Amino acid sequence: MFNSLSDRLTSTFKNLRGKGRLSEADVDATVREIRRALLDADVAVPVVREFAAHVKERALGEEVSAALNPAQQVVKIVNDELVRILGGETRRIRLAKTPPTVIMLAGLQGAGKTTLAGKLAKWLKGQGHSPLLVAADLQRPNAVTQLQVNGQRAGVPVFAPHPGVQSEFEAATGDPVAVARDGVAEARQKLHDVVIVDTAGRLGIDAEMMQQAADIRAAVNPDEVLFVIDAMIGQDAVNTAQAFHEGVDFTGVVLSKLDGDARGGAALSVASVTGKPVMFASTGEGLDDFEIFHPDRMANRILDMGDILTLIEQAEKAWDKDEAARMAKKFVDQEDFTLEDFLAQMQQIRNMGSMKKLLMMMPGAAGMREQLENFDEREIDRVEAIVRSMTPHERLAPKIINGSRRARIARGSGVQVSEVNALLERFGQAQKMMKKLAQGGGIPGMPGLAG
Ligand code: GDP
Repeated sequence: MFNSLSDRLTSTFKNLRGKGRLSEADVDATVREIRRALLDADVAVPVVREFAAHVKERALGEEVSAALNPAQQVVKIVNDELVRILGGETRRIRLAKTPPTVIMLAGLQGAGKTTLAGKLAKWLKGQGHSPLLVAADLQRPNAVTQLQVNGQRAGVPVFAPHPGVQSEFEAATGDPVAVARDGVAEARQKLHDVVIVDTAGRLGIDAEMMQQAADIRAAVNPDEVLFVIDAMIGQDAVNTAQAFHEGVDFTGVVLSKLDGDARGGAALSVASVTGKPVMFASTGEGLDDFEIFHPDRMANRILDMGDILTLIEQAEKAWDKDEAARMAKKFVDQEDFTLEDFLAQMQQIRNMGSMKKLLMMMPGAAGMREQLENFDEREIDRVEAIVRSMTPHERLAPKIINGSRRARIARGSGVQVSEVNALLERFGQAQKMMKKLAQGGGIPGMPGLAG
C-alpha cells in the first residue's frame, strides 16, 4: 500500500541526508518534491496545498535550524503532517451505553462493505462481543447470500429478509429499511450486543441510494456509520466521500483494498476532506485481512520507518502461549533446539498470516520491496513437507541424516535434494544461534542485544 508514495518520499529525504544545515533552497526543493509525490499519488489538491504549506513553515522555523540533525527533523515534520491528515489519534468504535451498539456500513457497490461486515463481525466476536449481521443490501444480486457465507465463516448469525431466501427477485422486492429495523429488534430480543447493518450501494452516487441509506440511518439510529471506500478508486474518492458525507453523514472511514498497488493517495485525503477519522483498513479478501487503523503507524509505514507495534500485536495474537512457554523452558534448561521445534516455530509464524505482509512492516522494507514481492509464501509449506518426511528419530537427531536419507526425504516431500540440504544448513545455523543465546552470548552480529 502507498508503495510509490513511500518510495518517492524516502528518496526525497535521501537528498537531505548528511546536510548539517538546510538552506531555504534546500527546503524549497524538498517541499516541491513532497508536493509532487503527493499529487502523483492522487492526494487531493487542497490537502496537498495545506500539507506543503505546513511542512514549509515548520521546516524554515527554529525547530529545524536548532536541530542536531535537520534532515531527520524534516522527516519528523512530514510524519506529523501525515498523521494529521489521516485523522490524528486512533479512533476506536464507540460502544452504546445500552446495547446493542448499532454499526451501519455505507459506500458504493464493490467498495467492500459485505466483506468488511464479515471481518468486523469476526473481530468483534474475538473481542468477546456477540454480534449479529443484518443483510439490508437488497439491491445487489447475491449480497444476502454473500453475507450469509461471510457470517458462517466468522461464526456469526445473519439476519436476512427471508431466512434462506432462494430467489434474487424475492430479495430485490424486500424493503431494506424494514429489514434493518427488524434486524436491530431481533438483536435486542436475542441479546446480541452489537449489530452490523450492511446496506446497498450503487456503482455511482445516486439520489435514490443516498435516500435509502439516510432512511436506514433514521430507522436504526446507529452509534457508528462507517463509510467504506475502495482505496484504488483514485481522485473519485474525494467526491464520493463528500457525497456520502452530505447524504448520509458518517462517523468514520474504512479504507478497503489497501493491499493493492494503486496510488491510494485519494483515500489519504478522505479523512482530511470530511473531517472524519479513518478507523479501519481492509487489506485482502480473507476475513482476517483487517486492521485497526492507527494514523501514526500508517505514517511510519509510508515513511519506511516500519510498524513494529502492529507486528508485535499480530505476533501476540498468533502465538500459542503453551508453545511459547515450552520453548522458553527449553531455552532455560539449555535443551537442544530440534527440527520439531523449528517446525513448530514455522507454524507459529504462519499463524501470523502472510509472510510478505509481515516483512513489509519492518523498518527499511520499502527499500527491499522487489525482493519481498518475490517472496514465495509456499516456502513455509516446503519446509513443512521436508520436515514431515523425516522420521521422528531424524527430527531429533539430524546428524544422522546422510546422503541416502536426504534422497529419501527429498522424494517423500517432492523437492530436490539441494533443498533438503539448504534446509538442514539453515537449521544448523538456527541451532547454533539458539545455543549461543541460551549461553548468554547475545544474538551474534547484534551487539546491542546482549543476552
Ligand atoms: P460491497 O458491494 O461493498 O458489499 O463489496 P464486496 O464486499 O462484495 O467486495 C467487492 C469485491 O472486492 C469482492 O470481490 C471482495 O472479495 C473484494 N474485496 C473486498 N475487500 C477487499 C480488500 O480489502 N482487498 C481486496 N484485494 N479485495 C477486497
